[in-house]
Amino acid sequence: MVKKGDMLYAWTSDADIAAKAECGGAVTSLLKFALEKKMVDAVFAVKRGQDIYDAVPTLITDPKELDQTAGSLHCGTLLLSKLVKKYLNGANNMKIAMPVKGCDMMGLYELAKRQQVNLDNIIMIGVNCGGTVSPVTARKMIAAKFEVDPDVVTKEEIDKGQFIIEYEGGHKGISIDELEDEGYGRRSNCRRCKLKIPRQADLACGNWGVIGDKAGKATFVEVCSDKGANLLDAATKAGVIKTEAANPKGIEIRKKVEGAMLKLGDKWRARDFGELGEGRARLEKIVKETSRCIKCYQCIENCPICYCVECSTKKPYLVKPGEVPPNFMFHLIRFAHIADSCINCGQCQELCAMDIPNALFMHAQQTELEKMFGHVPGVSMELPLLALVEEKEERSRLSATGSDQIFDIFK
Ligand code: FAD
Ligand code: SF4
Ligand code: SF4
Ligand code: SF4
Ligand code: SF4
Repeated sequence: MVKKGDMLYAWTSDADIAAKAECGGAVTSLLKFALEKKMVDAVFAVKRGQDIYDAVPTLITDPKELDQTAGSLHCGTLLLSKLVKKYLNGANNMKIAMPVKGCDMMGLYELAKRQQVNLDNIIMIGVNCGGTVSPVTARKMIAAKFEVDPDVVTKEEIDKGQFIIEYEGGHKGISIDELEDEGYGRRSNCRRCKLKIPRQADLACGNWGVIGDKAGKATFVEVCSDKGANLLDAATKAGVIKTEAANPKGIEIRKKVEGAMLKLGDKWRARDFGELGEGRARLEKIVKETSRCIKCYQCIENCPICYCVECSTKKPYLVKPGEVPPNFMFHLIRFAHIADSCINCGQCQELCAMDIPNALFMHAQQTELEKMFGHVPGVSMELPLLALVEEKEERSRLSATGSDQIFDIFK
């Protein structure tokens, strides 16, 4: 009987899935099993499109099509959670199972606490995540550093700290550290990300910690909820998945790798936030960078926290219509509304038409708020800071005390 807290090596019994999967194929087999047994109405996963740089979100209702989604796309910088809200009515009238990276999962939590998605209808199969590389950067990096035509690459993977490519005629790997020192490698938000093993999903699956004869052939699964335990248990009993207890040495190695990744995240935070300066200097930098904004709204469209029908940035008395670049109020509104809940998913930067480092600005502010109030977005159903302020009560307190300290953290 599988139970919450178990750590297992798991692998699929399906030879086709095993051939296409990244590790043991447990994720694809579990998704397929959930669909076959009608535990869910559909699977929302990611498949390869034109090439390895093209990660396509896809809704699957026929279990036979699931093998198309096996494998990891490290240039898949997409965020699945906002798509569940936008295109699947927040899973309110259908049950879905989906793979989730840390940021996908955090986005789902932030949307769920605002009643924009229904977590009761979602099975979240977490995948550990060391980071993703923007497709544009990946192409440039492969041409410049690997000296290979990006169009002939048939597979990419990140293993043992290296970005590895396979192409007609060979394969090559270069250390991520070296690539990142030269401005390539993972997206900057991914470098700062500290959600490497998504334990707030129902299962957390990865390759860290799979050693011995199972290395490369099994998926390390940490069981994080009863929902996850039930799915894995049923799939194991049906013979779809085979499991064995994780090797204790492997568990130790996984812990060490996670620790090292978290330290690396801290290093990048110190570096990125340090370069942004503090106080007035930071503000001036943000004003300068955002002054090239063309108000394309991609940052709002793709942010998991932004879903308002009447967005304040479209109120004429706050942001003058038709003015490009918009006045700084456009960005201030987003900072004020999002900074307490930003999950550092990088969408507002990745998709910005003017390459403005929006995620860096928002993440820098989010970490300051986290230091002040202790609220960590995306990891629980705890309400965001702004939800805790009773406006009427606050106004009376401000007027009675003459204070201008809106969040009175000093009392
Ligand atoms: P499979 O059966 O091959 O299924 C993989 C699932 O991942 C599929 O459902 C697919 O749709 C989905 N998927 C593929 N690309 C994406 C994407 N970009 N976004 C969301 N879902 C996607 N494991 C580690 O232990 N360490 C790591 O550093 C690490 N980094 C990863 C980085 C990325 C971007 C991804 C997607 C995964 C990463 N993993 C990492 C997890 C690992 O690669 C495997 O996904 C995991 O071990 C499960 O293996 P599997 O054979 O059971 O998965
Ligand atoms: Fe992975 Fe974190 Fe980057 Fe999301 S933000 S893709 S979880 S490293
Ligand atoms: Fe993601 Fe940007 Fe929204 Fe933060 S502000 S959650 S990085 S899209
Ligand atoms: Fe809502 Fe503010 Fe985002 Fe506009 S910027 S969608 S008002 S949270
Ligand atoms: Fe401005 Fe970039 Fe946002 Fe577009 S995505 S509105 S250019 S900040």
